[in-house]
Amino acid sequence: MKDQKLLIPFLDLYKINKPYHEKLKSCFSDFLESGIYIRGRGVEKFEQDFSQFCGSRYCVGVGNGLDALTLILRAYIELGKIRVGDEVIVAANTFIATILSVKHAGLKPVLVEPDEETFTIDVDCIRESISEKTKVILPTHLYGQLSPVKDINKLAKNNDLLVVGDAAQAHGARDVNGNISGNLYDASSFSFYPVKNLGAFGDAGAITTNDKKLSEVIRSLSNYGSSVKYRSDYFGVNSRLDELQAVFLREKLKNIRRDNQRRREIAHQYLTEIKNNKIKLPFWDGTDNHVFHLFVVRVKNREQFCRYLEKSGIGYLIHYPIPPHKQKALPEFFHLSFPITEKIHEEVVSIPLHIGLEDAEVRQIIKTLNLY
Ligand SMILES: *Cc1c(COP(=O)(O)O)cnc(C)c1O
Repeated sequence: MKDQKLLIPFLDLYKINKPYHEKLKSCFSDFLESGIYIRGRGVEKFEQDFSQFCGSRYCVGVGNGLDALTLILRAYIELGKIRVGDEVIVAANTFIATILSVKHAGLKPVLVEPDEETFTIDVDCIRESISEKTKVILPTHLYGQLSPVKDINKLAKNNDLLVVGDAAQAHGARDVNGNISGNLYDASSFSFYPVKNLGAFGDAGAITTNDKKLSEVIRSLSNYGSSVKYRSDYFGVNSRLDELQAVFLREKLKNIRRDNQRRREIAHQYLTEIKNNKIKLPFWDGTDNHVFHLFVVRVKNREQFCRYLEKSGIGYLIHYPIPPHKQKALPEFFHLSFPITEKIHEEVVSIPLHIGLEDAEVRQIIKTLNLY
């Protein structure tokens, strides 16, 4: 008889969240009894817990990760720190939301290449792109790995720039000094979209900062520009963190350290046991600066590799198939060329890495990749 092949999906949210079901049912029951559905105690408590977790002074819950970024930038405009039309430097290989947020805030995204080893923004490329109009650097901690924090902050300080971190993929990642992803830059944005390391049961997001005024303006902007009921000081939007999501997120936040550790364990196993010169493994310095939101390998003939994974019953995804500057939604960048970014987009494949994976599945994935 032939070997029984395991079918391993890329991600299994049901399995990841199943251990919480009973607890969440009782949270939901408390929520019903409270009779408060928007901005109740749940949001307040989650904001406290999350800022404590990040080591930041303030946290404001918002509707999603895209809004978190947009609201930070818009708040800086309201505070007079930057002006509509100013330039914001972002990595050309980030998820498109990072770039969309800049445009939604009325600012101009300036794309620069990433470092080919780490996939995160290249500091030399940032330096070369700083102009008179540059006001913000917006690095993404892509795939869960911190962007080069020390170098970016130094460059920002020397050039009088603000730094906003897109931490949507890096909840809990920690630098060499022990600082967490929500407390590395002037402000940071998070998404709690269900597949993220800290995932809600719908859309949710947050910002963290140590800047009190900034947090107040963001809170106001997210609620019709109003901090006193029926008085609007800013041209705001409706992007509040949902009360029920906050209640659920609080439960999952309790285990994020353990979950990230499990992700690193699996990554360590992949990095030491996958031995195939047709597959380039991601860079990791072994510290807590990576929370492995994704485990992204690179292959030359991606089409062939993907067919092989399908045949072997192993799920995969591509993050991301089309670089932002080649997206129809962003025609202003079409004429630009980013060779490193384009090469990355042609070669990357994400293989399963999540806390629902069984040891046997991890072994099966390693075995399959070694046989390719
Ligand atoms: C998920 C994500 C976002 C957007 O988050 P949403 O909650 O989906 O709006 C932004 N940036 C990055 C890097 C992301 O991965």
